[in-house]
Amino acid sequence: MLKAIIFDLDGTLYKSPEVYQQFAEAAYHTYAKIRNTTKEQAKEILEKKREELKKIRGFPVPYTLALIEFGIPIEKWHQENIAFFDAGLFLKPDLKLKKVLEKLKQKYEIAVLTNNNRIQTERILRALGIIDLFDHIFTYESFNLIKPNPEIFISVVRKLGLKPQECLMVGDRYDVDLVPAKEIGMKIYEVKGPEQIPDSLEINN
Ligand SMILES: [Mg+2]
Repeated sequence: MLKAIIFDLDGTLYKSPEVYQQFAEAAYHTYAKIRNTTKEQAKEILEKKREELKKIRGFPVPYTLALIEFGIPIEKWHQENIAFFDAGLFLKPDLKLKKVLEKLKQKYEIAVLTNNNRIQTERILRALGIIDLFDHIFTYESFNLIKPNPEIFISVVRKLGLKPQECLMVGDRYDVDLVPAKEIGMKIYEVKGPEQIPDSLEINN
């Protein structure tokens, strides 16, 4: 029986080209600052690396992974993007999503699991008007691991005190959010944005 629903954040609970653009700009800024290049050089280098990684891994990789390839620690990247912009300033309350989550919460525990950092995650959830609804908010700092590492999903299930098959992972990136969740026995549900999250769930996988 399903007991908990775990949501990815970016691209799942909100979609915002402005926020994605800000994360890209923050990544260029971070690389330029640490490697002492111009922002234009940083952009070229990072986008080239992301293309390479996409070919190797078979899916578009976030800036976090591209920066790690250049030896820039995740903690440093988070520190820089937190200072660079406030993701919440680009978002508005999503009343429709709030209603859907309130309905789901009547039957299930609900949680967030994101590779994003705690501060940007809270800014985003607060701006969307849904921060108080979640029973658990797992960010990068929760386990110091990033999806698609299956260990992070095992850790979440353990923290919830549930069996994998009692948990449903909802995410927008199949390879990052859903493949590893399915691998450890969780149920999965793919969405391409908050408007695709249903308020009742029939799960058959
Ligand atoms: Mg996502």
